[in-house]
Amino acid sequence: MRGLQRSNRKKTKRRLLAVGVIAAIAISAALWSSLQSAKAASGRVNTVFLAGEQPQGELKMSAPERYGGHVRKVVYLTFDDGPSPYQEKILDILEQNSIKATFFMIGTNIPVYEKSVKRLVKAGHYPGLHSMTHNYKKLYTEGQIVAEMQQVQGIVQQVTGMQVHLTRCPYGSMPGLTEALRKQMADAGLREWDWTVDSLDWKLPGNPGAVIQNVVAASTRNREVILLHEKPQSVQALQPIIDELRKKGYEFEVYDEAAHVPINFWHDERL
Ligand SMILES: [Zn+2]
Repeated sequence: MRGLQRSNRKKTKRRLLAVGVIAAIAISAALWSSLQSAKAASGRVNTVFLAGEQPQGELKMSAPERYGGHVRKVVYLTFDDGPSPYQEKILDILEQNSIKATFFMIGTNIPVYEKSVKRLVKAGHYPGLHSMTHNYKKLYTEGQIVAEMQQVQGIVQQVTGMQVHLTRCPYGSMPGLTEALRKQMADAGLREWDWTVDSLDWKLPGNPGAVIQNVVAASTRNREVILLHEKPQSVQALQPIIDELRKKGYEFEVYDEAAHVPINFWHDERL
């Protein structure tokens, strides 16, 4: 009987061990998937920073934060991964609405759509930097991010005559942009803007309704930086997004280097 109990106990122990291993695997998987959605999560974390830690008086926007006794609600539309065949259409819609936006462009695409990039700058939009390769390993693991951003910087300058300093790190600055890389960025005079609202448009082809919903539902704070891409579904979603955000009381602004405010997932004030 004792022997049987002991062997039962052993079995129970083994089962517990097995359950433990399975649980550990499940937890690792959950951690991994939460790491994968770090973009969205970081955006939410950043929110706290925007609302709470923004030092009073630091904000020097082109218009006052408060105007006529009420707090201004400002939104920055940002478009990544261009220039592309969709950029001209985005520029048309922005023009029809008298809105200026911020574009983070990949260096290798610029010579292909030079005309569009020139038009973009002429219209008062901001030509931001989004690397040459958009390759995580090259940019972060191999640490090429500053070199690549400086390459795009040179291409933008060649095409538009503007020397710009604001980057958007591909995949967001977290976790790739380590302390050492952030220091290199700051030393090179580069700045980094992540986002506060992720439209997730890149994974919603043919579903502009969901893109609109993602942006409008998540836009609740007095300052939002909205991540969009130069994709057909984003073009389709753009006018409704503008209409809905206006209904919520938002004004649209373009990034201005002279009034830079750090908006990065690391809360690194150097960037
Ligand atoms: Zn990108």
